[in-house]
Amino acid sequence: MQDSNSRVAHSEKVELLAKQIGQFKSKGGSSLSLQYSAKQQANTSRSKSYKKSAAKLQFETFDEILHIDKDRRIAVVEPRVTMQKLVQTTLCHGLIPLIVPEFKGITVGGAILGEAAESSSHHWGTFANGCAAFEVLTGEGRLLRLSPSENSDLFHAFPGSYGSLGTLVLAEVKLVPAKEFVHLRSHFYSNPLEAVSFLQQLVQKKNTPDFLDGMVFSKNSAVIIEGSLQTEKRALPTYSSESICADWYYHHIEKMSTRAPIYEEVMTISDYLFRYDRGAFWMGAYLFRLSLLARFVGQGIFKCWDSTKDHFSEEQLKKLHRVQSPNLCERILFYPWLTSQKLWQLFHQAEKWIQDRCIIQDFCIPERDARKVLEDVLKDPGTFPLWLCPIKGTKAPQIFAPHLLSDTADFTHFINIGIYGLPSYSAPIEEITRSLEQKTTACGGRKVLYSRSYYTEEEFWKIYSRPAYTALRQMTRSDGVWHDITEKVLSR
Ligand SMILES: Cc1cc2nc3c(=O)[nH]c(=O)nc-3n(C[C@H](O)[C@H](O)[C@H](O)COP(=O)(O)OP(=O)(O)OC[C@H]3O[C@@H](n4cnc5c(N)ncnc54)[C@H](O)[C@@H]3O)c2cc1C
Repeated sequence: MQDSNSRVAHSEKVELLAKQIGQFKSKGGSSLSLQYSAKQQANTSRSKSYKKSAAKLQFETFDEILHIDKDRRIAVVEPRVTMQKLVQTTLCHGLIPLIVPEFKGITVGGAILGEAAESSSHHWGTFANGCAAFEVLTGEGRLLRLSPSENSDLFHAFPGSYGSLGTLVLAEVKLVPAKEFVHLRSHFYSNPLEAVSFLQQLVQKKNTPDFLDGMVFSKNSAVIIEGSLQTEKRALPTYSSESICADWYYHHIEKMSTRAPIYEEVMTISDYLFRYDRGAFWMGAYLFRLSLLARFVGQGIFKCWDSTKDHFSEEQLKKLHRVQSPNLCERILFYPWLTSQKLWQLFHQAEKWIQDRCIIQDFCIPERDARKVLEDVLKDPGTFPLWLCPIKGTKAPQIFAPHLLSDTADFTHFINIGIYGLPSYSAPIEEITRSLEQKTTACGGRKVLYSRSYYTEEEFWKIYSRPAYTALRQMTRSDGVWHDITEKVLSR
C-alpha cells in the first residue's frame, strides 16, 4: 500500500516537473538548475556560479524510497535520497547497495551524476555501475527510461554528466546481501609505494576482500585496509566513529600504525560504511581549526589572510600544513557540528577562500602507473594524508567515467588518489592542480570532476568525446535548458 501510494505521488511529482521544464522551453529561458533545501549541503566542491543566472526547479521533494524489490535485489529510489536513508532502509531487508559513498549526505542523484566511488569499487566500479536503470526528464520534459537495453548510449553516458543531459527522477539501485559486521585488517607500511604494490596484489587476487582502501599518512607511513563482511562479531577491538570519545577514523588508524604491522578490529556494517563521515576524512580538521580561529581568536582571520595573496605563505603553511585533529575535549564539545554535512555548511560559507588554499581532488590513475604517480604526489604537492581507492575500470561507453578503459587497455583497475588538504609549499592552487591534471592525463588517467578543474575547453575535449556528447545533447534536447558540462565543471 505504502509502495503504491509512493508511486502515485512520484508520478505526480514527475508530471509537474515535466510540465515546468516544457513551459520553460516554450518561454525561451536560457538555463535551468535544480534547487534543493538549504538543509541539504552539496558534497560537490567546485564553483556554483553558473547557477546564478539560471531559473530554479524545486527538487527537494524527490527524496522517497519507492520500493525494495527483494527478489530482484533492487531499490527503486528518488534521486534526493541520501546514502544514510538508503542504507538504513536496505539494511532492514538484509541488503546493501553495491557501492556506498562514504558521506551520509551524498544523494543517489549526486553519486550517479558525480561518479562516486568507495571501498567496494574494486569489485563494481562507481555507484552508477551499481545501478540497473535510470528515469530521466529531457530538456523538453519527456520521460526516458535508460538501461543497458533501453537508450543504452544515454544510460552509459549519463553518469558523470553532472545533470547536463537531463534530470534524473528515479534510479534502480542494485543490492547485495549484507552482514551485520565488517572485520577489518589494516596492513601498515613504512614505504607508501610498497603499500600500493600490496593493494595491486589484493585487487588481482582470486578471492578479493569485500572492501579495500588505503591511506598515506606521510612519506614514511601508509596503510592498506581489507574489510570482510561477517555474520558473527569476532572477539576483536570494536571501533565506531559515532562514539563521542572516538578519534576520527583516519586518526584512529594512524595511531594504530605505531603498534604492530597488522591491526585487526571489527565494526558494525553501518559504522563501517560511514567511517569517514565524522571529520569528512580529515578535511574537518582544517575546517574546524580555521573556523574556530576565525570565530573566537581573530574575527578577521579570513580577511587578514585574504588581503595579500590567494594562497598561504610559506610561514603560514608551516603552521597549518599538518593540522591536528580536534582533541577529546573539542570532539565532545563540538560533537554535533563535526559530521560531514555540518562541515560542508562551514565549507560552503567560505568556499572560494578555502578552494584558493586547499586542494580537494580525486585522480583515477591506471594501476600500472599508480606507484610512479604516487611517488610524484608525495613530493609535489606533498599533501597528507592521501586516500587510496582501487576502482574496477569499465569498457562501456561512459563518456565521462573517471575509470574508462580504452579498447587497448592492458590493465583492469585504476587507483584513485584522493588529495584533500594543503600543499607543502606556497603556490597558487590553480598551478598545482593544473600540474596534477596534466600528469594524470599523460598516463591515461582521469580526474573526478566534482571539484575545480582548470583544463581549457580544448584540453577538456581532448580527454572526453565531444561528438558523442553533442549527439546526446541533441537527442535529449538539452541545449538552452541544461548547462553544458564545461560551464559546470571548468573553473572560471
Ligand atoms: C573532501 C571530499 C572528498 C570526497 N571524497 C569522495 C570519495 O572519496 N569518493 C567519492 O565517490 N566522492 C567523493 N567526493 C565527491 C562526492 O561524491 C561528489 O561530489 C558527489 O557528486 C556529491 O553528491 P551530492 O549528493 O552532494 O551531489 P550534488 O552536489 O547535489 O550534485 C552533484 C552534481 O550532480 C548533479 N545532480 C544531482 N542530482 C541530480 C539529478 N537528480 N539530476 C541531474 N543532475 C543531478 C548536480 O547538478 C551537480 O552537478 C568527495 C568530495 C569532497 C568535497
